[in-house]
Amino acid sequence: MLKGKTALVTGSTSGIGLGIAKALAQQGANIVLNGFGDTEGPKAEVAALGVKVAYHAADMSKPAEIEDMMKFAAAQFGRVDILVNNAGIQHVARIENFPVERWDAIMAINLSSAFHATRLALPAMQASDWGRIINIASIHGLVGSAEKSAYVAAKHGVVGLTKVTALENATSGVTCNAICPGWVLTPLVQKQVDAKAVTLGISVEEATKQLLAEKEPSMQFTTPQELGALAVFFCSPAANNVRGVTWNMDGGWTAQ
Ligand code: NAD
Repeated sequence: MLKGKTALVTGSTSGIGLGIAKALAQQGANIVLNGFGDTEGPKAEVAALGVKVAYHAADMSKPAEIEDMMKFAAAQFGRVDILVNNAGIQHVARIENFPVERWDAIMAINLSSAFHATRLALPAMQASDWGRIINIASIHGLVGSAEKSAYVAAKHGVVGLTKVTALENATSGVTCNAICPGWVLTPLVQKQVDAKAVTLGISVEEATKQLLAEKEPSMQFTTPQELGALAVFFCSPAANNVRGVTWNMDGGWTAQ
C-alpha cells in the first residue's frame, strides 16, 4: 500500500517508533530512522522487510539538527510523505522538585520537535497534495497523572498541535492525527516499573502488575505492533478524511 512512499519516524531506534517504522516498511514504505543507541540492529530489522532504509542522528531537542535531518531525508528519497513524530522522554517528580533542565528537555523533545519536523515536512506534502503526519501523543495528552507535569503538558500540547495541523490542511490530501497509547512496555516504561519496584521494595513482576492495575482495566500493555497497525490505517485511503483525531489505545484507561 505504501510502495514508493517515504516515512520518517523520529525516535525509531527503540520501542514504539521502531514498531511503527517496521509496520510502515511492511507496507512498502522506505524508512528514515532517527534516535540514539544501537542503530545497526534497527536498520537491519527494517532492511530485512525489503525496503530502503536510512538513518539520521539528529538530536530532536535541536532545531538545526532537525533541519539537517529533513534535508537529508529529501536528498535520500526525494521527499518525506509520512512523518511520525514519536521521539520522547519522561521524567517523574513533583512540580516543586522538578529539575528545570528536565522540563526544558521534555518540552523540546516531546513537543517542539514535532512543530519543527512538521513545519519542515509540510511544504513538500502540500506540493504533492498527499501527506500523513502522525503524532505519538499519549493518554497523557488527554488526562493527567501526578509527578508528570512536563510530560503531560507537552503531550497536551502535541494534541493541540495535531488539531491545528489538521485544520490548516483540511482541504488538502495532507492529514494529521494523534495516537494516544496507554502503557506500552518499552525502555521508557521499564524504567518506571523498575523505580516502583525499588521504592516499594517489591519484585519487578509485582510492580508491573501494580502499574497496570492503577490505570488500565485490561491489565495488558499495548504493543508497538498494535500501534504500528493503527499508523498504517492512518496512512490508508480509508483514513483520507480522518483529521485531527486523538485515537486512544489504552486498555480502557480513559473510559473510566
Ligand atoms: P523509548 O525510550 O523506547 O524510545 C524513545 C526513542 O526516542 C528512542 O529511539 C530514543 O533514542 C529516542 N530519543 C530520545 N531522545 C531523543 C532525542 N533527543 N533525539 C532523538 N531521539 C531521541 O520510548 P517509547 O516508549 O517507545 O516512546 C516513544 C514515544 O511514545 C514517546 O513520545 C512517548 O512519550 C510515547 N508514549 C509511550 C508510552 C509508553 O507506555 N511507552 C505511552 C504513551 C506514549
